[in-house]
Amino acid sequence: MANKTKFQAIKGTRDLLPPETELWNRVEQTAREVFGTYGFGEIRLPIFEPTELFARAVGDETDIVSKEMFSFELNAFEEIHHSRSKLLDSTDDAMRFTGYLFETLRAARSAWDSDRIDHTPANRTAVQKLGQIYKRLYEGIADDSALEAARKDPEILNLIGEAQSVAMDILVWPALAALRPEATASVCRAYIEHGMQQLPQPVKMYYTGPMFRRERPQKGRYRQFYQIGAEVLEAITPNQDVTKTIGKDAAVDAEVIEMVMVYFARLGLEGVQLDINSIGHSALDCRRGYVEKLKAALEKVKDKLGEDSKRRIETNPLRVLDSKLESEQTIIEKLPRIGDHLCADCAKHYAEVKRQLELRGVAYRENWRLVRGLDYYMRTTFEITARGLGSQNAVCGGGRYDGLVELLGGPPTKGIGFAIGEDRVILSLQEAGKGNMAQGLDVYIAWMGEKTLATAIRAARDLRQAGFRVELPPMEQKFGKALGQADKLGARYALILGEDEVASGQWTLKTLADGTQGKYNEAGLLEFLRGIWSERERK
Ligand code: AMP
Repeated sequence: MANKTKFQAIKGTRDLLPPETELWNRVEQTAREVFGTYGFGEIRLPIFEPTELFARAVGDETDIVSKEMFSFELNAFEEIHHSRSKLLDSTDDAMRFTGYLFETLRAARSAWDSDRIDHTPANRTAVQKLGQIYKRLYEGIADDSALEAARKDPEILNLIGEAQSVAMDILVWPALAALRPEATASVCRAYIEHGMQQLPQPVKMYYTGPMFRRERPQKGRYRQFYQIGAEVLEAITPNQDVTKTIGKDAAVDAEVIEMVMVYFARLGLEGVQLDINSIGHSALDCRRGYVEKLKAALEKVKDKLGEDSKRRIETNPLRVLDSKLESEQTIIEKLPRIGDHLCADCAKHYAEVKRQLELRGVAYRENWRLVRGLDYYMRTTFEITARGLGSQNAVCGGGRYDGLVELLGGPPTKGIGFAIGEDRVILSLQEAGKGNMAQGLDVYIAWMGEKTLATAIRAARDLRQAGFRVELPPMEQKFGKALGQADKLGARYALILGEDEVASGQWTLKTLADGTQGKYNEAGLLEFLRGIWSERERK
């Protein structure tokens, strides 16, 4: 009997179906258009990257990295790692060592054969050498009497040492990969990998695509969700005095924020609210000094805090400010505020961002509690909320992250960017009644009689070429049935082609909304429909 298992999309993932996907396309297309006018080019990134990239960039202590990543083994790391770590611990027993060496060799060979370690010349040599050493060791300790001697035999000891070092040479990096939980780290990785600091600076790039986080699914929060983001990266030239470019950096921040706001306005997103903050500079004293003060203040009220916040006093005290717990709100309001502790440079930067936003006519609200969850932010942070989303109302988060590229092994570089939650933008547009993008059928071709088929096919092709949405039924139908079908599909017009029409060259076009009809020759029909269409476009 056939297996009756019903497959369903995994919780937290979902299908996006037509016609809703038209709205998704419009949201993405508008981003391309708007971001393009600001000089951004598209970057397409891998969906999975080394886990370590996210751990380093986003931070080990963040929820995203510590709890929410979908990580998987990319290669034979575990097996090889396991057996070769035993090699390192058993040097004083040649017999046991040889046994572990056999295990390591077997793991390495099988990983090689099944393509789970890279087929590089170095790996090939290492696996071969390991085989040779094993053979010599095995022969050296072949019987018990030899074993005693082997313990002291310098040649055997040499072989053991050599086996250890060759085993460590087998390159199985990166061991773990993760589905990307965000894309800023990837953009920075790509910037470094492709030497983009050599390009004219800054480099401005945007991306769109799915991200993955093992969060608790709810409305507006999914495990596979979609982001549209942009980043501006600028290499810091040697000897550049970064205190001299604060005004310029602030202008870049303001332009990036302006761009998102212009984009949201273009989409017609409603109830858009921009919150901004400065969280200082981790390498300068202001952030560190503030975090110390915050920690001390939190210690004093520790007993009144919830479990999450208690834990965060140690791991990530800034995140306490994010808390939505009702009982913690009055406590948080009395905590020290970063704005009062910014160093002169950070304060100057923040004041300039605000001035620049005002110059650009971008309305903002200052929110001293806006710290954002990721470790890499410094100075400017911002978040945008929109209407119709309930508790998950943030549609965009962003900030400045000078130093992140360097942290990932690249040159000193400044960065600012944001990520928009596309799922939530769509939800908000739908809530506001702006989600209906369905473009129904334009023309249903009701043809009858074998002799009309060639004409019907030609008419369909010409109309489609002119951009109309056309349905050509594969089999002839009685006119009544054809018109019923056209109605069901929501077609605007039915093109009626019977043998009379084909013979006379005068085709009948029926407007389905009011039942009126007119006669047109082939060219006249196209002209008529084009006229109607451009009128519709104008509206
Ligand atoms: P983040 O990368 O955490 O700064 O998030 C940026 C934006 O992505 C948020 O403001 C949300 O709009 C969206 N977002 C983050 N996580 C999710 C999720 N699990 N489901 C849907 N949207 C999300």
